[in-house]
Amino acid sequence: METVAPYKEIIDVIKESGGDAFKLCYRCGLCDTVCPWNRVIPFSMRKIVRQATFGLTEIESEDIWRCTTCGNCPQKCPRGVKIIECGVSLRRIATEYGVFPTPVKPIRTISGSLVGEGNPLSEERAKRANWAEGLSVKPFTEGMDVLYFPGCYLSYDPRLKKVARATATILTRAGIDFGILGTKENCCGESIRKTGDEDVFKLLAKENIKTFIDNGVQKILVSSPHCFHTFKNEYPEFMVNFEVVHISHYLFELIDEGRLELTKEYGKKVTYHDPCYLGRHNGIYDKPREALKKIPGLELIEMPDSREDSLCCGGGGGRIWMETPKGERFSDLRLEQAIDVGAEVLVTSCPYCITNFEDSTLTLEVGENIEVKDITEIIQEVI
Ligand code: SF4
Ligand code: SF4
Repeated sequence: METVAPYKEIIDVIKESGGDAFKLCYRCGLCDTVCPWNRVIPFSMRKIVRQATFGLTEIESEDIWRCTTCGNCPQKCPRGVKIIECGVSLRRIATEYGVFPTPVKPIRTISGSLVGEGNPLSEERAKRANWAEGLSVKPFTEGMDVLYFPGCYLSYDPRLKKVARATATILTRAGIDFGILGTKENCCGESIRKTGDEDVFKLLAKENIKTFIDNGVQKILVSSPHCFHTFKNEYPEFMVNFEVVHISHYLFELIDEGRLELTKEYGKKVTYHDPCYLGRHNGIYDKPREALKKIPGLELIEMPDSREDSLCCGGGGGRIWMETPKGERFSDLRLEQAIDVGAEVLVTSCPYCITNFEDSTLTLEVGENIEVKDITEIIQEVI
């Protein structure tokens, strides 16, 4: 076994990340049983945790980059081991040493783009608000009720711009006093942090926090569960606290309060996929389903592996930027589950899930059998 980083350094970083909790592992292997990787290839997080405890990690190994931080194993671990934190701390060491196996190498470009342009997609900052062209979306000003923060993928990705546009259309229809930060918006930094790049995360978070404070932001509406998670649970590390609401929850409230009227039928069989960072990491399972159930004509059906057991799409933990070969993609399995239960539409509420599911419809050639939609795209059709 070759170890690139010295034994002591690994132990130190592990300790800083809550290392005493890693030592609680008694090697039951439950984490490996529930890990989605074991549906596609042999993979042992138990082994990684064990080796890390002794400072014996092979930091050049691709395995330390596999965890999607889906949150399934920590919720099942009988000893409360901080499994995700353990994996991320090993990536921090690899990042510090610049050790990136081939499938992980895109992270270097991503990191450069985040620092230079505030997004991971090598897009120009100046074009960040182009998604809103023709929609009369206002710049955010102090005193507005809500800041809408679409995030990077909805700002730039051609498929996901449709979701940002659907969201703005719905908010306008509901009479919400909202605005956007446009070019002043930065990536939230959640995913780069999970790749172990704490410096870039801090840079992005501090810039965003300063912008929020300078512009008098109090309530932030987000489309991505990753933005939701980091604003709500990680930005408070910087001694700030904003009210953060995810669109799937907000939609339910708007419908429930009668501010959004659903006037048209949506006569399709729909199944809902719980994004890891909305469901397991933040406990939001019911509101998106309740919003969908209010749509006239819509038949909601459940897949296996839903709610707390939701099958990860494969995009968390920075995996959205890494290469995952065909045959190892969880999103293929999820799409097959959706088709098997008879769904005509696979609906979710996360840009990474949509990106991965859209890719899978192409590679599996099932685009005629099933559509992939964000919850806002369905609501837009029925108002
Ligand atoms: S489930 Fe927890 S205790 Fe069991 S092997 Fe995994 S980390 Fe160790
Ligand atoms: S968090 Fe998810 S992907 Fe990571 S090791 Fe645990 S079950 Fe596997």
